[in-house]
Amino acid sequence: MIKIALLGSTGSIGRQVLSTVARHSDKFKIVSLSANSSYEIFSKQVNEFKPQVACLTDPVSAIKITEIPSETTLYTGENATLHAITEDCDIVFVAISGFAGLAPVLHAIEMGKDVALANKETLVAGGEIVMKAVREKGVRLIPVDSEHSAIFQCLNFNLNAEFKKLILTASGGAFRNFSKIEIQNLKASEALKHPNWLMGKKITIDCATLLNKGLEVIEACHLYSAPLSKVEAIIHPESIIHSMVEFEDGAIMAQLGYPSMEIPIQLALTYPNRLKTDVSFLDLTQKSLTFGKIDLDKYPCFALALKSYEMGDNYACAMNAANEVAVGLYLQDKIGFYDIADLIEHALVNIERIKVSKESLLYTDGLARRLVREKIGVKS
Ligand code: NDP
Ligand code: MG
Repeated sequence: MIKIALLGSTGSIGRQVLSTVARHSDKFKIVSLSANSSYEIFSKQVNEFKPQVACLTDPVSAIKITEIPSETTLYTGENATLHAITEDCDIVFVAISGFAGLAPVLHAIEMGKDVALANKETLVAGGEIVMKAVREKGVRLIPVDSEHSAIFQCLNFNLNAEFKKLILTASGGAFRNFSKIEIQNLKASEALKHPNWLMGKKITIDCATLLNKGLEVIEACHLYSAPLSKVEAIIHPESIIHSMVEFEDGAIMAQLGYPSMEIPIQLALTYPNRLKTDVSFLDLTQKSLTFGKIDLDKYPCFALALKSYEMGDNYACAMNAANEVAVGLYLQDKIGFYDIADLIEHALVNIERIKVSKESLLYTDGLARRLVREKIGVKS
């Protein structure tokens, strides 16, 4: 029985983790659940899975939880999530969105726990210190993001395997068939119509700007100890190949399947073994697979993400924070699509260079958020 601490249980990934647990309840057990404020769905989850520990960060929402199982202890407040990482769990599944994932990931590693990581912002902002902690503690950091899981599979589940190049695939997001002129006036409601994947709002907007692919390139550099020059991203509109690895002899390995997070989620818990999922078997005779280059003019966020990583130190953290705020503003129709890139650039120009540490990342994250809000003239 694998005992799982699940952080971010109410989100798109979190709910799929719970479906996986329910599908194989003889193999998996939930020992703790955490979320931010979605108390109604959280309350249902807690009563169904009866964890030892339940954590809802927002106190106002936590008060509204009227019923909890007798075996469950409920925590709330800013650091409540850390209580979900119990001594008892075998693995911490991090499905929290955004920079908020960093502190729990570092805490889990510090406690010597294996981490299944869906949250990509953690590695983008703090990859240097996270990977150092992973090496020092000798724990496993298991990729869940579909591209990084695909690479993990192509490398026979060996994060240290040799390769020539990693090739990440990108669907192109909701606006892939529009020109730059057409895109500039399109609202978030349009950007949320992802052609292939059903995900949380923030990541769906990141797919439309292709910032998501920039985050994933950085994530791959950290996970697979690769320089930027060894990680490529290409457009693959069908989202059937989830990523590829090119080797020294010219061979390329690819992982294929219908676009569903069920496989990477479950595999993170069971690899090298594979169990049944509810995903349909792929009929390749019904598919044509196509590929293309990323248009950097149409997708400036992608180039900015890579630039921030090349700048080093705390710049990727600043890029990520600026993007989180800008995406929030775009979702509220307060800014336009290409303002997201402009605001990221504004943060990168104005942030001061600092060596990466847990404290400097918190400082950088806060400052970059403030720079973006001040530029637009909003408080939060
Ligand atoms: P969602 O927005 O659907 O869910 C986010 C989850 O995190 C919710 O449970 C939310 O709680 C919780 N949360 C947010 N902020 C906090 C906080 N400060 N403290 C505690 N909990 C918090 O996101 P997704 O499930 O789509 O994505 C999760 C992560 O996985 C992201 O980093 C994303 O990039 C990555 N990812 C997602 C994929 C997908 O298919 N969705 C694919 C690959 C990677 P509440 O509901 O209460 O707000
Ligand atoms: Mg992905």
